[in-house]
This record gives sequence, structure tokens and C-alpha cells, in this order.
Amino acid sequence: MTQLYFSPILLGILLLVAIALCATALYRMAPGEPGPGFWMAGSWTLIGGVALFIGFIVTRSPLLNVLGNAAQLAGEALFLIGIFRFMGRPLPWWTLPVSVGAMVIANTHYWLVHGNSDLLMGIYSSIAGLLPVQAIWLLFRERSDPDTRPARLLVGASLLVYSITTLLRGTLSYLDWWHDAPYVQPYASFTYLLSYNFAIPALVLGFVGCSLMTTQRVLARSRQMAAQLKEQATRDPLTGTLNRRAFHQELVDEVGRSQRYGRPLCLAMFDLDHFKQLNDQLGHLAGDQALQNFCRLCEQQARRTDIFARFGGEEFVLLMPETDAKQAQLLLERIRQTLAEQQFHYLDQRYQLQVSIGVADLDTSGSPDQLLRQADLALYQAKASGRNRVQLWSPPASMAY
Ligand code: GH3
Ligand code: MG
Ligand code: MG
Repeated sequence: MTQLYFSPILLGILLLVAIALCATALYRMAPGEPGPGFWMAGSWTLIGGVALFIGFIVTRSPLLNVLGNAAQLAGEALFLIGIFRFMGRPLPWWTLPVSVGAMVIANTHYWLVHGNSDLLMGIYSSIAGLLPVQAIWLLFRERSDPDTRPARLLVGASLLVYSITTLLRGTLSYLDWWHDAPYVQPYASFTYLLSYNFAIPALVLGFVGCSLMTTQRVLARSRQMAAQLKEQATRDPLTGTLNRRAFHQELVDEVGRSQRYGRPLCLAMFDLDHFKQLNDQLGHLAGDQALQNFCRLCEQQARRTDIFARFGGEEFVLLMPETDAKQAQLLLERIRQTLAEQQFHYLDQRYQLQVSIGVADLDTSGSPDQLLRQADLALYQAKASGRNRVQLWSPPASMAY
């Protein structure tokens, strides 16, 4: 037992305990995530197996030997099944009974017929070294889920080192068996040191990679959710355009920018003409579709730098940076005319849309709210003077002097 104190075996076991504790923490921190539950169960089973094996070294009890080896392989198999679970693949449950069953048969045979311990070690290492092959293949080959790819490659590479080291250990054991080498205590055996010095650290690194895969996935999902929430907060659900709140922020920014640099800026306000009639005649769903059609048309006609938004109901706004009143009127006239000339269809019904537009030009001392008010007043004038027209805001005569 004293040799244990200065051997890598104790260090190896403590590293496994560290993995098991971290796997338990991961399982509790990411509840419901596929994978960590298997990693936790696998690492504790592995430790249980190592503990039984130490019991065997101390007591020489064959039962502890058989159970210890079987539990270690069961732990490893569970750990690897967890990787399939993480990747959403069918679980290779068969690896568990096959590896454990093969080991129990070989181990029982060893005790019953006084077999060779090197041969037994060779069989154990072959099973342990071959177990991860499927998982390594999957980790390297899987192309979907790019968020977790870097950590997946780390897990794959670590398991590859584990697998190669363990198979090497198996080969050395077969050679010892073949050459009938004398029995060596595990703590003094090179093949044991190979696994404790190299295979277990590789397993630790593999587990670190598993934690990183899980973290990367959770982070990617929360980023996605944040983007979705932002989308919901800034977009109008019916038409997909900016909503009023998001538009107001853009308006404040653009007004500030154009005043700072002395650049032109125009704001147009649209209100569909007699829209209530369309709803009344064709139904609300037709009205909804008309609003969507109107938005598509405006977005096609507007320039990339223009900011289009639904202001409410059947009212929309278009902010046109770097655009003076003349250019704005040309663009708006084109929108108005294209809309008026277009035939729309709802089921087997045809309908047309017309729009009244008020437009205001930012003056040097104007505020965002003032610009909005002026565009709204111009829209009111457009409605009052017959609809289906573009009206530029101009100051009342008394203010012109
Ligand atoms: P005007 O030419 O004076 O603008 O007449 P109007 O009928 O367009 O104006 P009014 O303000 O009386 O009616 C606006 C209509 O827009 C009433 C409302 O039901 C409809 N509306 C507002 N939002 C939606 C929507 O999301 N879907 C549908 N289908 N209709 C909407
Ligand atoms: Mg209206
Ligand atoms: Mg209207």
C-alpha cells in the first residue's frame, strides 16, 4: 500500500475524482442538456471500478478483480455513450454489455484456470482502447453544429491519444504474455504507468473538452435567444418592418448626425387611403396581406440607406438620410404611382391600393419630434386635398417672414 503514495496511480485516481466532481457540477449547472448525465454516471462508475481494483490489489480477492475491471469498462462505455447523446445520435447501448460481458468472461476464465495476467491485461486494454473508436470517428466527422466544433476536435484528439496509449499498453501486455515475462506488481509495471501517466491525463483533457462543448452550445443558444428577443422587440410581427419604437431611435440618431454634419434629411409619413373600406369589403386577412404588399413595395422602391417602419395601423414612415426635399419628392412620387398602378389579388378578388404621403425636410434647429409633427401635418394636408398624393410640408404663411 505504501507504494501507492508515490505512484502515479494515486494521482490518476484523484484526477478521475476531479473529473467526476466536475461532471456532477456540469450536470447540475446545465440541467436537461444531453450528455453531462452520462459523463457524470460514467466517471463515477469508472472511479467505483478503480476503487474495487485497489481493493483487489490489497486483498487479492478475485471477485473484486472481476467487478473492478467490469466497472471500469462500464464507466468508460457510459462516458462515450454520453458523446453520442450530446451529438443527438442513436446511442450505441450495445457497447456496454459487449465490453463488460467480454471482460467478465476473460476475467473469470483467468481465475478459474489460473490464466496469464499479461494476457488478461492485453484483453482489458484492447477493449478499453477500441471502445472510443466510434466516438472519435463521430467527433471528427460531424459537420453540423459548427458552434461546438473546436471543443469537439479537442475531445476527439484527447480520446485518440487515450485510445492509442491504451492499445499500446495492450500490445505490450500481449508481448509480455508471448515471451512469458515474469509477473510485475501493477505499481511497478511499465504498462500500468503508461495508462496512468498518459491515458488518464488524455481522459481528463477529453472531459475538459466535453465541458467546453456543453458551454459552447449553451452560449450559442443564449446568443440566439438574445438575437430573437431583439428581433421581437424591434420588428413589427405582421410586416417584418421596424416597429415604431426602434424607428424612433433611428430617427433620433439620424437627426443628430445630419445636424452635426450639416447633411440633408427628409422624413415621409404614409397613410393608406380608405383602408377601412378594404377591410370591410374583403375582410381583415385581406387587409393584413395588403399591408404586407405595401411594405414589400416600399422596401423595393426605397434605397438601402433609407429606414422604413410601421408607425401604427396602416401608417408607415420612411426616413431618408442624405436626401433633400426635391429628391425625396421624386422617390415618394414614384412609390405613390407604382402603388396606384398595381393590381393586387386576395383569393379570387382583385383590389388596388392608394396612399397619401406627407414629407418634411429637417431644418437646422429642428428636433426629431418636430420633424415627425411636420410630416404628419403634411400628410393631413395630402388627405384634405384629395388623397393619393405627396405633400411637402411648408411653414404656414405667418411663419414665413
Ligand atoms: P383614410 O383614407 O382617411 O386614411 O381612411 P382609412 O379608412 O384608411 O382610415 P381609418 O383610420 O378610418 O382606418 C384605418 C383602418 O386600418 C382601420 C383599421 O381597422 C385598419 N387597420 C389598422 N391596423 C390593421 C391591421 O393590422 N390589419 C388590418 N387588416 N387592418 C388594420
Ligand atoms: Mg390612419
Ligand atoms: Mg388610412
